[in-house]
Amino acid sequence: ALVQKAHETVMEINLNALLNNLNYYKSQLQPGVKIMAMVKAFSYGSGTFEVANMLQYHKVDYLSVAYIDEGVALRQGGITLPIMVLNPEITAFDKLIEYKLQPEIYSFSLLSEFTKYLQLNDIVDYPIHLKIDTGMHRLGFEPADMDMLCDLLEVNTAVRVKSIFSHFVASDAEQHDAFTLKQIRRFEKAFRQIERTLGYQTIKHIANTSAISRWKVAQFDMVRLGIGLYGIDPSVKDTNALQPIATLKTSVSQVKKIKAGETIGYNRNGSLKKDGHIATVRIGYADGYLRAFGNGVGKMLIKGKLVPTVGNIAMDMCMLDVSDVEVKEGDEVIVFNEEQRIEELAKQIGTIPYEILTNISQRVKRVYF
Ligand code: PLP
Repeated sequence: ALVQKAHETVMEINLNALLNNLNYYKSQLQPGVKIMAMVKAFSYGSGTFEVANMLQYHKVDYLSVAYIDEGVALRQGGITLPIMVLNPEITAFDKLIEYKLQPEIYSFSLLSEFTKYLQLNDIVDYPIHLKIDTGMHRLGFEPADMDMLCDLLEVNTAVRVKSIFSHFVASDAEQHDAFTLKQIRRFEKAFRQIERTLGYQTIKHIANTSAISRWKVAQFDMVRLGIGLYGIDPSVKDTNALQPIATLKTSVSQVKKIKAGETIGYNRNGSLKKDGHIATVRIGYADGYLRAFGNGVGKMLIKGKLVPTVGNIAMDMCMLDVSDVEVKEGDEVIVFNEEQRIEELAKQIGTIPYEILTNISQRVKRVYF
């Protein structure tokens, strides 16, 4: 049951919808392909333990986080699944090992530092994940590094290469399909050479959400499922396949009568064209309702009607032009839900849904059902 008091700004997370989305992507996989679920950044804003627990219960194969502390938090919450850390800090190898987290190794210096640490502690065969840069140019070994990398791996008994992976730049975009294909070819060439050197099989993975459906040939041994789990994937054409998992709602603290031309909010940016009403609501940029939504750019739903913001968004609250709706103190206000989608909010301010979701701050209570 939902416990929601009128004065709270809450993000409701529907774990059944999340399970529906997980099952949808499972149905898109070739037989035997594993799933690594991306739960970094507080599970894209949806809550670390609750989401990870559900994924563990429903038997995904791997979890992935960006930083070591995120992995530690999952372990402290009782998560026993293997966890890959994308960007491990060399100052926290002790924690990484204590909490049985598996690092992404993306450079010669990281490989060398980590190997030294393992040797000093008499550790052998520690699982690592090799990242190949096939075109993102963010992290990873370059194709030209392969000979030297193989030479080093051949004599390294401290690590065991659990997986080899890369990351797509634009697997969702048709205009970049030729480049995506190039990334796949570079990836194949790299992992073949590494596996020949190692003499054993690793898990190969490159596909993110949008590649799962669009690039079946790129599923390899595992896919890394992120945003699709949270109900967002423009590459899925079947509109019933995915369910939005989150509703962000707040409420009205005060309603005011405003005369045409009077200014509203900081810096006198807002006003009404005709005499009307505004409602002050309990959400601001400190909650993740970014300042860019101000002055009519953003809209919220009150009693099923879309009403625009008026004036600048403040830290803890903002104002809506409610001249056309009957509104009173305490009324519920929807920022996003299945009707006004996160995708739509992202469009309003020229960003991507990932940024909207991960910006919802920790002050906003998460409620699960
Ligand atoms: N793999 C890596 C390395 C990532 O950084 C991310 C997300 O940013 C993903 C997979 C998941 O991508 P998506 O959310 O598009 O599925």
